[in-house]
Amino acid sequence: MGGARVPGPIGTDSGAPSPSGARAFRPGPVGTELRFPTLEVFAALHGDLGSREGLPLTPEQIDLARPIFGASIAYGLVRLVVSAVANAPTTLGNFIRISREDRRNGVPSETLIHELTHVWQFQTRGMRYMSNSLCQQLTAIIKKGDRNAAYDLTGQEIKEAGTIDRLPAEKQAMLVELWFLDQALVFPDSSIPQRLRDNAVCRSMIGEIQAARPLALGQIIDEAAFGPGNHSAFHEPEDQPVPLFRFEF
Ligand SMILES: [Zn+2]
Repeated sequence: MGGARVPGPIGTDSGAPSPSGARAFRPGPVGTELRFPTLEVFAALHGDLGSREGLPLTPEQIDLARPIFGASIAYGLVRLVVSAVANAPTTLGNFIRISREDRRNGVPSETLIHELTHVWQFQTRGMRYMSNSLCQQLTAIIKKGDRNAAYDLTGQEIKEAGTIDRLPAEKQAMLVELWFLDQALVFPDSSIPQRLRDNAVCRSMIGEIQAARPLALGQIIDEAAFGPGNHSAFHEPEDQPVPLFRFEF
């Protein structure tokens, strides 16, 4: 695995220049993070591995998503792929991996919106969401014996985060899912549940989501391989081995 290389030019890269300047490009959850660059690069490029069909989003599905994500997602790049493995559903890059059962019965709307949040994370923030999600689920298992604890979201956490990028990846997806379902949570300073749609911080977070725009795939791969701002240090990135893991501070 150590011999993995950064891929060369990528088809869908529009040729947009990579961002320059150290630390200029550091979106995503904050704090010390453990990332798996080799895994991230592989998943970004081969998220449809082992799947059969690649279904584009239907106009109805895009109509569900657009009020939340606006123009922040390149909907045309998203594919629902039917797979026998890693199909919880699981989103890898632009590929939402679903089971044969979901293919037959349809993916529940709130699940689709949750997974599209991971597409949004991938397209606008890069692959860090995947390492973050893996680490959060692992931490939840170690601390609480249940990976689903990574998905718990409270009004307190939303208030403390203040901005979407300060929430862990799965909590970002839960926020969007709860927003879509028009749910309420108890926020600090009141014991009465409040609709997310009536809460100023939640509204501002959804605004941040809508304001984002997709990155070029080349930028995403560079960032996954070498970290925020670091790729500019390499003159010939294709000659640099991608690390297996990396801590970011
Ligand atoms: Zn998720």
